[in-house]
Amino acid sequence: MEDCLFCKIAERKVPSTIVYETGEVLAFNDINPMAPTHIVIIPKQHIESTDELDVNNYDAAGKLILAATAIAREKKLDGYRLVINCKEIAGQSVFHLHCHLLSGRPMHWPPG
Ligand code: AMP
Ligand code: ZN
Repeated sequence: MEDCLFCKIAERKVPSTIVYETGEVLAFNDINPMAPTHIVIIPKQHIESTDELDVNNYDAAGKLILAATAIAREKKLDGYRLVINCKEIAGQSVFHLHCHLLSGRPMHWPPG
């Protein structure tokens, strides 16, 4: 999608440090890391948020989570947090569905 930062990253029109890629999913280091490991995982397909998901997106949604699992195993992460912000009030700032993979420091709950 035009004017979508993460679509541009997926198309290599905006540089990023890519750490994992499959046909449907891309993962890259967050530019403003909130933890020693902070990776952003996106479906290559433009989907605005989890609010847009329906039964046609089983594959995209499942592969997003499985990519997180694969990266965590590959990097031997000892515990991690997956975060998906949906809509501005919940902290979403880029409106292309993505999952944050955070690890490397203690994290507290509730997140605030
Ligand atoms: P969210 O606030 O959940 O929408 O997350 C968007 C994330 O994208 C934030 O953690 C940003 O730091 C990150 N981000 C923004 N621009 C870039 C970029 N060019 N490369 C990598 N990560 C980015
Ligand atoms: Zn997009």
